Amino acid sequence: MKLEIGNQKSEIAGERYSRQILFGGIGEAGQRRLNDSRALIIGCGALGSAQAEALARAGVGRLRIVDRDFVEASNLQRQTMFTERDAAERIPKAVAAANHIAEINSEIATEPEIADVNHSNIEQLIKNCDVVLDGTDNFATRYLINDACVKHEVNWIYGAAVGSYGVTMTVRPHQTPCLRCVFEEAPPAATAPTCDTAGVIMPIINVVAAVQVTEALKLLTGRNEQLHQSLMQFDVWRNEWRKINPGPPSSECPTCAFGRFETLDAVAGEAAAVMCGRDAVQISPLKPTRVDFESLAERLRGAGEVKFNDYLLRFRTGDYEVTVFQDARSIIRGTDEIKTARSLYAKYIGN
Ligand SMILES: [Zn+2]
Repeated sequence: MKLEIGNQKSEIAGERYSRQILFGGIGEAGQRRLNDSRALIIGCGALGSAQAEALARAGVGRLRIVDRDFVEASNLQRQTMFTERDAAERIPKAVAAANHIAEINSEIATEPEIADVNHSNIEQLIKNCDVVLDGTDNFATRYLINDACVKHEVNWIYGAAVGSYGVTMTVRPHQTPCLRCVFEEAPPAATAPTCDTAGVIMPIINVVAAVQVTEALKLLTGRNEQLHQSLMQFDVWRNEWRKINPGPPSSECPTCAFGRFETLDAVAGEAAAVMCGRDAVQISPLKPTRVDFESLAERLRGAGEVKFNDYLLRFRTGDYEVTVFQDARSIIRGTDEIKTARSLYAKYIGN
């Protein structure tokens, strides 16, 4: 069999996917469909990097990978896509993932996006995607994904992991319950454990990502009858595995029953977000722009220590560290107060 992506013909394609084609659930026709598909991975941390690697190896032809963060040493214990060099050089995760995928499977077209996913870009990001995989770490983004995917009828696969516990559910808009049918509201802030308060072990990441990726392969090859059709929960430390039947879509659901997509309509005001448990706040500029790092570094040099590469600039002052990305989005470390972060942003970066 001959596989083509764009104009590139693959010599090794027949060998490369031979074991997957042998598998009855996929076969040659399924492999072609995977090759012609585009998956969107939102958040390329632990779950996202496991998803990206698996989908690239499986031959999903186009991978759009969105992440707002860069690689740090504390990621390496579970974020299997990244290396010590990525952390030392503070490479943005989306770029690092694309670099590694190019080495794993050069036939895959990756579309790395260094961006904070929000109401202003989510609908653009899911455009032309056949499936969306959740690799995020917060409910706000998940409701945003849910709204956009229900509105545009794109299948998406929810997934989360903390400690040794994980959960996943596949949403087929208007066919199965959406996230809001099952969880009407996000858990209140500071009540749910996070990876930074409760820690996380890698095996649960692999379990959740494995189920998400398998569901993606079923969806992309048109094998919907094989979907697990449940809310799946796992605890690999307590040895618990559960499949909960979520029933039909709720007739009361604002999202899928009434077509109200509140998170997409949000006013552009809230441009700051506390980054869960990391003693850091992210500030987004009201208007995206393109920062000239050289001249910004020049301006900041008198006020503290400045370093920059092609992707970001890092500035240290007192107890704070400010990382500025090309679009002027910044992560301010050393505080969990939006107010303080906004003030530092205004002081040093300006808007
Ligand atoms: Zn719903």
